[in-house]
Amino acid sequence: MKKSWKEMDIGGLTEAASSLKFKTGSWKSFKPITDLKKCINCMICVVNCPEDCIPSKDGKRKDTDLDFCKGCGICAKICPVKCIKMEEEQ
Ligand code: SF4
Ligand code: SF4
Repeated sequence: MKKSWKEMDIGGLTEAASSLKFKTGSWKSFKPITDLKKCINCMICVVNCPEDCIPSKDGKRKDTDLDFCKGCGICAKICPVKCIKMEEEQ
């Protein structure tokens, strides 16, 4: 039998940061392919990715974590040197 709202834990029933356990990028229809040799490390894509799946380290942009990318295409649209191309998922 389902709990009533009065019996539920405060703050919901899931633990914090549980989204990291689920690879939420599996249903995208397009994926970003980045030519890191052309990247100028401006970090515009890093700070604008809504999924926070473009990592950086020591001032260098790293490759996209496709396990969490949703394929929205924002990074490709805003990259000033156009080194990100969206490719259809197979
Ligand atoms: S396509 Fe969207 S979700 Fe994927 S890396 Fe680019 S901005 Fe982030
Ligand atoms: S927006 Fe383009 S140039 Fe800037 S860090 Fe991202 S991939 Fe590199």
